[in-house]
Amino acid sequence: MSNAAAEKWMQVRPEGLYCKAADVYIDPTEPVKRAIITHGHADHARSGHGEVFATPETIDIMRTRYYLGEETQETGLKYGERFDLGGGVMLWFASAGHILGSAQAVLEYDGTRVVAAGDYKRHPDPTCAPFEVVPCDVFITEATFALPVFQHPPLEAEVEKLLRSLRALPERTHIVGVYALGKCQRVMKTLRLAGYEDPFYMHGALRKLTELYESYGQDFGAWEMVSDIPRADKHVFQGKIVLCPPAQINDRWSRRFADPLPTVASGWMQIRARARQKRAEMALVVSDHADWGDLIRTCEETKAGDIWITHGRVEALEYALKQRGMRAKALNLIGRDESVE
Ligand SMILES: [Zn+2]
Ligand SMILES: [Zn+2]
Repeated sequence: MSNAAAEKWMQVRPEGLYCKAADVYIDPTEPVKRAIITHGHADHARSGHGEVFATPETIDIMRTRYYLGEETQETGLKYGERFDLGGGVMLWFASAGHILGSAQAVLEYDGTRVVAAGDYKRHPDPTCAPFEVVPCDVFITEATFALPVFQHPPLEAEVEKLLRSLRALPERTHIVGVYALGKCQRVMKTLRLAGYEDPFYMHGALRKLTELYESYGQDFGAWEMVSDIPRADKHVFQGKIVLCPPAQINDRWSRRFADPLPTVASGWMQIRARARQKRAEMALVVSDHADWGDLIRTCEETKAGDIWITHGRVEALEYALKQRGMRAKALNLIGRDESVE
């Protein structure tokens, strides 16, 4: 099926990617009548839509983060469950491997299949379902880390760095800055799988989403709220891991700990200047996005005749795909930014 066929019913509008045939947007940046939401991160899941189609997990996350109002009508679809959107368009979700509930939106119309992947990754993640390759005519990909410099190391190796530091510096409080949705839970789970057994100590901002993951069967072992430990008991945290949002690793909040060691966990930490900016002593490369090699590999594996690129290092990926003989074009969607998370 040709690019031109899909362009008749899939378009880019100021609010985002738009399926004209079913009058529905994918991850719109403005409130719309009907929205398909790929996952719960703030740059994809906004509030104020009339009708929302998403996985049950994503709907739960949106409720937890107040992205769903009383008046919003929700339709939860499990991976693989087909739903007739009307106008001849069939919708189903395939797992994206990005965070709990994250999905690629698969749209079928008039013999053409378009897959909007949302954010995705191929590296293993014990806290969500793995990415599923869906053969399609048009594959719509992100390009957040689309530069050859981005080759994400295995998370186990990064977590081992942290465990080594804890052994070497048992008097210091290791304060690890993680995003509340996805990264926090993935880091905790990976530490458990590496044999770390002490309780985690957690900033209040991470609590609700961690409990939500637990309600879907995830087990993070023992964790306690920092706020439940009396201020005088600073020693409790020594040689332990404290988790908080990235902005808190060395602000007023972190001063309550004895000899803090500020650490950030982010995909951008491969770029040293970014770690310095955050004034982190230790940087762990933890990304929930596909790296350079995985972006190209995924585009190839879908066997799509056309690749559309939404956001990130759009030009670099477009060029690399064209060099490999693929048809690729930039959509230049606005309002997507990993750093807002
Ligand atoms: Zn995301
Ligand atoms: Zn995103």
